[in-house]
Amino acid sequence: MTVQIDHALEEIRRFRPSPEFAAQAVADARLYEEAAADRLGFWAEQARDLLTWSTPFTQTLDWSNPPFAKWFHDGELNVAYNCLDRHVEAGLGDRVALHFEGEPGDSRAITYAELTAEVKRAANALLALGVAAGDRVAIYLPMIPEAVVAMLACARIGAVHSVVFGGFSSKSLQARIDDAQAEVVITADGGYRKGRAFPLKPTVDEAIEAAETTVRSVLVVNRTGEDVAWTEGRDVWWADQLAAVDAEHEAQGFNAEQPLFILYTSGTTGNPKGILHTSGGYLTQAAFTHKNVFDLHPERDVYWCTADVGWITGHSYVVYGPLANGATQVLYEGTPDTPHPGRWWEIIEKYQVSILYTAPTAIRSFMKQGRDVVHGFNVRSLRLLGSVGEPINPEAWIWYRHVIGGGSIPVVDTWWQTETGAIMISALPGITDLKPGSAQVAIPGISIDIVDDDGTPIEGEGGGLLTITEPWPSMLRGIWGDPERFKETYWEKFGDRYFAGDGARRDEDGDIWLLGRVDDVMNVSGHRLSTAEIESSLVAHPWTAEAAVVGASDETTGQAVVAFVILKTSQADQVTDVVAASDELRRHVALQIGAIARPRQVFIVNELPKTRSGKIMRRLLRDLAEGREIGDTTTLADTSIMQIISEQVK
Ligand code: ATP
Ligand code: MG
Repeated sequence: MTVQIDHALEEIRRFRPSPEFAAQAVADARLYEEAAADRLGFWAEQARDLLTWSTPFTQTLDWSNPPFAKWFHDGELNVAYNCLDRHVEAGLGDRVALHFEGEPGDSRAITYAELTAEVKRAANALLALGVAAGDRVAIYLPMIPEAVVAMLACARIGAVHSVVFGGFSSKSLQARIDDAQAEVVITADGGYRKGRAFPLKPTVDEAIEAAETTVRSVLVVNRTGEDVAWTEGRDVWWADQLAAVDAEHEAQGFNAEQPLFILYTSGTTGNPKGILHTSGGYLTQAAFTHKNVFDLHPERDVYWCTADVGWITGHSYVVYGPLANGATQVLYEGTPDTPHPGRWWEIIEKYQVSILYTAPTAIRSFMKQGRDVVHGFNVRSLRLLGSVGEPINPEAWIWYRHVIGGGSIPVVDTWWQTETGAIMISALPGITDLKPGSAQVAIPGISIDIVDDDGTPIEGEGGGLLTITEPWPSMLRGIWGDPERFKETYWEKFGDRYFAGDGARRDEDGDIWLLGRVDDVMNVSGHRLSTAEIESSLVAHPWTAEAAVVGASDETTGQAVVAFVILKTSQADQVTDVVAASDELRRHVALQIGAIARPRQVFIVNELPKTRSGKIMRRLLRDLAEGREIGDTTTLADTSIMQIISEQVK
């Protein structure tokens, strides 16, 4: 059986980099040549250029025991030193590292000197609690500066952090504490979200109560000032503990393969896996991609990545990449629509943000609101836009570029995963001609291939499975505590290649288009259709804000396309006849793509089931479309959503 995915979408728009942008671009086309000529030499050069090593490495890659890679493994470095002290030593101590904006409107600028001082104290605080190199520390915090400080403090002493998204339940937290055997938890009394204080500490108490692992200490940041229950001898206020310890802490070098963090994947497809990342290779690729993909000019840019630190994007592109590069960035605690729908644009105007990195789900929710909200603010400081998390539909890409970006600035769509640690596929701004909807090209030094189900590379144009053919510096080093599952999940299918689980297509220019997860690919009368392409077609209709497509079993066609569509706010009032509206959308898809892709049903809904990181959980919609009981919803942002959708669909 071949997994050729039938190519449906016809997207021919192209955008050349402007000469002005190209003239100042950080990335250089020679990077591709250098990496092609000597891949390992290229990464070794990046590691030496971008990072400071306390003991220089002499070996680049040890791949003698695949799939367990070691990068730069006879070298030593301190990750926190690379993100902090060295910038201060270079005279940049007064540069703002974080412009923190709390949801209630409190704000705080933290310089590199201040952040370094804070991390030194936090490192001493952890040491005082008995945390040693290699120990695991769970972090369960809102998006406040202390989250960044806590992560870096762990890195500084060689402890392994496991950040758990602050919106997760006590059960999820407990499972993650137990899986990693974390003996210390860093949390807060609470945080602010959607205009109110939400408690965190009670969730931690519950999780610890239920956990098998004995949690020795809980460090509690005072954020909301709400009352909290207190366990004497175990709970310690963050501020007290930091005040009680020494201000000085000298960073010691650790082996390049020292574990840096465990992060559980977002759980779009099933059971979260504890993905393990280590130090030298991870930081190299995070810093390299952050600099070149986002065209970072640290002396003048203000960068904002809207991801929560609970996700990999928050790890690599809020904490490690930007800070290793000495960037100035915005850190925002709350939701995009609090206290008003223009909050993000207000923040961009306030801090003169020049680089914005966000997810298609956010862009589509702004499309739903309409452009007036954006136009209420001056966002002309923006000069580069990035997208991550899901395929970005061409219409959403165009809207992003025009309405947010003013029509002429680059949009980079970046493909990567928790497992890859850093960006793997993306245009390089100033070099690559941009194509809306395509993630485009492998990063220099990364080897991507599209293969059929037998692992045979698909030559030239065509669709199949996305694989990575060579080890890369920021690759996962395993699944925590489960080497077998690591091999099975990613390596068993093709033996010598990493299987990403995503479908992809290469076009006639060699550019890569992500087609969605392989599990979601539909088979209609023998044609393999991608969710991403049909969704993009639906989003291209002027009425549609967002769409999710699944394949539901069908007696005649094997599978049938079933679509769930959210209409734009401006249209929702005018569309009174939902039957006529869904007929119109079905016709539209048939016209754009072909009769084979015409959805059997189009349901007009108000919500779609999404993970906490904003990804659509299609498997739940498939359950609904096939009339099954709805599967595991624990990683949904809002667990009541499926109930609402079920009722709308009836
Ligand atoms: P789980 O693996 O637990 O099911 P998850 O895959 O959603 O969860 P992440 O590692 O956060 O967890 O997401 C990586 C996935 O997100 C990729 O495999 C891909 O499906 C999707 N993705 C990320 N960026 C892009 C992009 N730019 N274009 C298309 N898809 C993307
Ligand atoms: Mg995944």
